Amino acid sequence: PVAPDAPWLKGLNPEQLEAVTTVDGPVLVLSGAGTGKTKVLTARLAHILASRRAQPWQCLAVTFTNRAAREMKQRVADLVGPPAQDLWLGTFHSLCLRILRRHAAMVGLGSDFTVLDSDDQLRVLKQVMEAERIDSKASPPQALMGIIQRWKDRALTPDKVGAEGGSELAGGRARELYRLYQERLRGLNACDFGDLLLHTLTVFLADASVLEHWQGHFHYLLVDEYQDTNVAQYLWLRLLAQKHRNICCVGDDDQSIYSWRGAEVGNILRFDKDFPGARVVRLESNYRSTPHILAAASGLIAHNGGRLGKTLRSGLSHDADAIEKVRTRAVWDGEAEARLVVEEIEAVQRGGEKLASMAILVRAGFQTREFEERLITTGVPYRVVGGPRFYERLEIRDAMAYLRLVNSPADGLAFERIVNTPKRGLGEAAIQSIHIRARQDNVPLLEAARRLVAGDELKPKPRQGLAKFVEDVGRWRSLLDSMPHAELAATILEESGYQEMWRNDKAPDAPGRVENLKELVAALEEYDDLPTFLEHVALVMENDEKAELDRVVIMTLHGAKGLEFDTVFLPGWEEEVFPHARALAETGTQGLEEERRLAYVGITRAKKRVLITFAANRRIYNQWKSQLPSRFVEELPDAHVERMADQGLYSGGLQESRAAWNDPGWSRARHGAQTRQAAAPSWKPAPARDPESDFKLGDRVFHDKFGNGTVLAVDGNKLEIAFDKAGTKKVLDSYVAVV
Ligand code: ATP
Ligand code: MG
Repeated sequence: PVAPDAPWLKGLNPEQLEAVTTVDGPVLVLSGAGTGKTKVLTARLAHILASRRAQPWQCLAVTFTNRAAREMKQRVADLVGPPAQDLWLGTFHSLCLRILRRHAAMVGLGSDFTVLDSDDQLRVLKQVMEAERIDSKASPPQALMGIIQRWKDRALTPDKVGAEGGSELAGGRARELYRLYQERLRGLNACDFGDLLLHTLTVFLADASVLEHWQGHFHYLLVDEYQDTNVAQYLWLRLLAQKHRNICCVGDDDQSIYSWRGAEVGNILRFDKDFPGARVVRLESNYRSTPHILAAASGLIAHNGGRLGKTLRSGLSHDADAIEKVRTRAVWDGEAEARLVVEEIEAVQRGGEKLASMAILVRAGFQTREFEERLITTGVPYRVVGGPRFYERLEIRDAMAYLRLVNSPADGLAFERIVNTPKRGLGEAAIQSIHIRARQDNVPLLEAARRLVAGDELKPKPRQGLAKFVEDVGRWRSLLDSMPHAELAATILEESGYQEMWRNDKAPDAPGRVENLKELVAALEEYDDLPTFLEHVALVMENDEKAELDRVVIMTLHGAKGLEFDTVFLPGWEEEVFPHARALAETGTQGLEEERRLAYVGITRAKKRVLITFAANRRIYNQWKSQLPSRFVEELPDAHVERMADQGLYSGGLQESRAAWNDPGWSRARHGAQTRQAAAPSWKPAPARDPESDFKLGDRVFHDKFGNGTVLAVDGNKLEIAFDKAGTKKVLDSYVAVV
């Protein structure tokens, strides 16, 4: 009883219409980016509800993120009103949580069980390993945690783990530890994220009547981003769909980018076997991007092998003159890249477009810093989606605490933050003693600690740890005047064991944190001394998120899946940045192909324009490294790309560098060493002079925080100012106005 002109059916092409209205029986929609897969799922939900085939709570729809779930619910509500609220619509985790609450007792949990975050998870595993006297140096808990998670992704409970990869860990006791970990969780009335799925599966398989109940309950199942489901999720779906068999999955094998989290693109191929007679719908019209963007993305992904293959053409009508090719642009270094991108953002904004329609999509978190700095300097509002802003990240705050303490030993907050990070054997009692002593003697915490280790109040272990720390801080302080400050920072991060702590961490986000620390040291290089830098960060942090709604988006490529923007900036397309060094180090092409899919995801987020940039030089840690453009840049089809590579940026010209790179006689490792060596000092750019600086020497100015003063020097966007009251300081020009 649905009119053919119902709002959710309007404008759909015949294939989309087929996918929306074939509500009975299994359907697989397999198609490229921007072909309306998510739109089809939304319309399908509306269609099912409006035709009263099922009640809203009898429909289950899975999205990849909570945010995608909220959006889909909103769209369905816009189409059919309040019933949308009662849909079972969410991520696998949230849906499983709802089901599991009702059957918790079956897996030995109370219905009020807690779901542990990854920190707590690891703590529990560590306790288990300690109790079993497993040497955490030889068998890092993080590594075991990773293995356990992968097992859970594959629906392997402890008794199902056989000779799987990883079982040799912890002296061959990995499986046993997995069992003990699960028991311990149960004892705590808790579970981890992986358990949400695993336990629900266990419940389904343990009691046929429970399974039948849920199989009967869900008349319609819908799954978005199907290419990134793991085995456990697949089994879960297959079980639930068994009775009514109305399951519709939509996906794109070219956008499978989560294999590192256990996703199995092979689930697409299995679908046909598990649901014989499934209708396979292919959508071929892309309604998102211009033909150039589409052709560029298609040309790039064609370099991958083993694809299912599909046709993708533009479904939009475009004025051929009005559309831009994808642009690639070589720049000198990261600072120039940020400058270029932000200039472009401002130009597009002047052209009448919203900031929120523009996104900077990075491969790795460390890349956001330079863009954030430039956006703050120029006063362009932005937000980092899916993670904290650079200087708010945990590892950056920790590292900053080290720097602050060395710079000002009385900084009690800094002291507290890092005195036992990394672990120095200080328990709560020891920390308390330091506080008591500080109050008694009326001295800062660091001084109290120094006095404390001189006495015998502390137990030997904490005393040793604390003594070493106090001594270290003293030594670093003594280097303040003699050692260049960036080098000192690098030294501190190394000698304190802080960087080491993250290097040894096997958690998936740990390598990113190490990269961020290196980026922090690179940032320091841009400032004359440590106090100036600390001041700069304080100012940047103070500039807290404006309530502004219209903001440029910065996020990772992984986080951008499923989203779309008018304008997309893709920076850092350089070998070893993107494709990432880790993928290049792998044997075989799997890692590289996943990187290429990520590039495909990136380009296909754009509706109107794409700017890809790559720098000839990057400051990585303390050193300038000459970079080569990403192979992905070259793989883009010429007909759809406007290349603006300045040959002069590359020593001996880009062609020659490339020739050397492609020379099969060169091993990648050797080549890496060569490029590093080639980064001679002459590569270092001259200090940036901002030709557009609004300030001249001698200008009288006003600063938000320091009041009136006179400009002594201009260095790019940094000004040295003699303030009437606050003395001479270096500040960012965006905080200063000429009076
Ligand atoms: P991705 O693979 O990136 O997740 P997708 O296949 O899910 O993409 P959608 O996000 O659903 O694609 O759709 C892409 C864009 O195309 C959206 O803006 C959507 O509104 C629009 N669109 C989809 N189908 C049509 C259509 N038939 N007519 C007009 N616009 C459409
Ligand atoms: Mg989608």
